[in-house]
This record gives sequence, structure tokens and C-alpha cells, in this order.
Amino acid sequence: MLAMEAKRMFIKVVILDPTLNCPASSIADKVIEGDFSDEQKIYQLAREADLITYEIELANSKALKNLEVSGKLVHPSPKTLSIIQNKYRQKKFLRENKINVPDFELVYDEDQVVKVCSEFGYPVLLKACENSYDGRGNYLIRTKDEIKYAMKQFSGRECMLEKFVNFKKEISIMIARNSSGCISYFPVVENIHEDHILKTTIAPARISTEIESKVINLAVRTMESLKGSGIFGIEMFLGENDDVLINEIAPRPHNSGHYTIEACSISQFEQHLRAILNYPMPQPILKSKAVMVNILGPPNLSGPYLFSGIKETMRLPATKIHLYGKEETKPKRKLGHITILVSDTDPLLVRDQIEQSFTIEVHKEAE
Ligand code: AMP
Repeated sequence: MLAMEAKRMFIKVVILDPTLNCPASSIADKVIEGDFSDEQKIYQLAREADLITYEIELANSKALKNLEVSGKLVHPSPKTLSIIQNKYRQKKFLRENKINVPDFELVYDEDQVVKVCSEFGYPVLLKACENSYDGRGNYLIRTKDEIKYAMKQFSGRECMLEKFVNFKKEISIMIARNSSGCISYFPVVENIHEDHILKTTIAPARISTEIESKVINLAVRTMESLKGSGIFGIEMFLGENDDVLINEIAPRPHNSGHYTIEACSISQFEQHLRAILNYPMPQPILKSKAVMVNILGPPNLSGPYLFSGIKETMRLPATKIHLYGKEETKPKRKLGHITILVSDTDPLLVRDQIEQSFTIEVHKEAE
């Protein structure tokens, strides 16, 4: 989607991706096949580009830093990436900058986990600090008896414990800064997760203006403490007492910002490009309320797949389908999303509109 926006701006695009036939390959001018962490492939990419950006935390911050030192333009800053790509480092950085986060602690052995769990009170989240996303690196420890099993799931990996937040809502905001220091943000949205994976985004969030101001204030303060330009997705919890805590920062366009393609005057992808190219970045206007629903791979299916129900959904005038063209499905893999422009974000109306619109299913490819 970022490449699509770049092509709309007539920018030449070279992609580094582990899959030659990756979704962006149908749009990009060139694809370099290679792992996101492959230093040599990143240098090859750099030889072909004036400016480098990334939209995955698995990018190699060390190689990107080397490029930056050699004078190449790399946005967002590799230093910011290295803070964000480790969940412990990220939370520690936020806490040091006096930004609200849930209580957390790095853990080393079982005795310490037992001690911290009883301090935090059950349930507690055990999180693998690196290479964990879409809920894959989280384990909810409900009782002391589950500690051994939970630790086994992430054995050999650096882990932290995090106090469970009894949140009223999960919310997020997309916020960007260009190289001149101009900051602009999109509306606050509300996110519904299933099994730790984003399923639905409701834009704008159904929150009071006081809470909205708290969210914006926290996001701006976060941006002021982080270096570099680009768009950032900041995920937050709205706690029981209307306190707002940051859960996670993504240094890139974010799934909860996909609705901006249809619903805002500037999409999150265009805003990222404006930020890294140091173009003007006005505050985007919300043209319509919207609901975004992810199309996820079914839990028991891996490999080639087919969609059904696309034509039925295409008949609905306020609904836009995005299918990413990933070659294979995996359990809970994000294969696409739909955006529904809605006249009202009343929960029952939203549910009805989603049910009417969402007939797309993922099936095993015929033998
Ligand atoms: P993460 O990958 O850490 O962003 O977590 C994915 C999802 O797990 C979040 O969107 C929440 O639904 C849930 N989660 C993560 N951390 C916490 C927490 N401290 N308390 C409650 N739920 C959490």
C-alpha cells in the first residue's frame, strides 16, 4: 500500500522482501529477494535508492545505522527502530520519558517470575521482547501453576512481565513528523482485537473530548521524545479510570490506520511519504466515519487459498475491498481488509453494517 502511494506520486520503488512474488512486486519497479535482516541485501537496496524507509520492525537497525553514517537518507531513524524493536527497551524508554505505560519488568528465571507475578497480581502477561507481533510473543499467565509452561513457550528468548490492564477500550493514533519537525496526527480510533490480533478498527473512537485530548497529548509527547521523521502508530489502553497508557509503538504505517485510505483527505501512506520527503504535512481531515475489518487466514489452514464472497461485497457502494495477494495463508495471517464508510459509529449499526458487508471467506485452494 505504501508502494502504491509512492507510484501515485511517480516515485521509483525498489523493494527488499524475502518473497520475490510478494504483494508489492506487482507495483514496484524492482524487487530484491532477501531477508529483512540481510545486511548485504540492505546495502544492495541502498545502492539503488536515494532514500530508504522500512515498514517492519524486523528490519536490521545495525545495517540501516551504517548506511545513515555513510550519508544515506534513512527514515525513520535507525536509532528509533532499535529502541522500538525490543519491547523492554521501548517501554523503558517511554517510562524514562515520563510517558504512561503499564508496569513491567525484565525477567531472568522462574523464581523471579513467581515474585514479580505476585507483585503485579494475576493475570500477568509474559512477553518475548523481540520478534513478537500479532500476539505471537505474548502469553497470559492466569495462575502460578501456569508459570513453568508459559516460560517454556519462549525459552532462550529475552522476556518481560507486564501488568495486565483491565482496559475499557484499546485505542490508537497515527502521528507523523517530517524532517523540519512539523507534527500532524490522524483521528483517534478504537480497535477490537481477537486472540491478540487486530480484527476491527472504528474511526473515530467513541471517546469523550477529554480522553481524546489526553491521547493526542501523550502521542505528541512520545513523538517529541523519539528521533527522526516518518509516521508512527501508537497503540494505547483506555483504563478503567479513564487513564491512558501506551501499549506499543510501531515506527511505520499501521493496520489501524488503513481506514485512512478511503476516509481521510490524506492516507497514512501518503503522510509517511510526505514525512520522509520533508513535504508539508497538514492535519488530515476525516471525510467520513469508517470501520475497517481485517480478513484473516482461518485457524486451521496453511498454504494456497481462495476467497469467496468477493462479488457480493463488491456490490455494496460504501465498502472497499483490499486483497494483498499474499501467495499463501497461515493461521490468522492478514490477507486483506475491507473498509466500510459508515454514517454513524453506533455499535449496533456498525455491527449490522459489518455483517451485511462481510461475506468474504478464505478457503483451501481446490485440489
Ligand atoms: P502486543 O503484541 O504486546 O501489542 O499485544 C497484542 C494485544 O494483547 C494487545 O492489543 C492487547 O489486546 C493485549 N495486551 C497486550 N498487553 C496487554 C496488557 N498489559 N494488558 C492487557 N492486554 C494486553
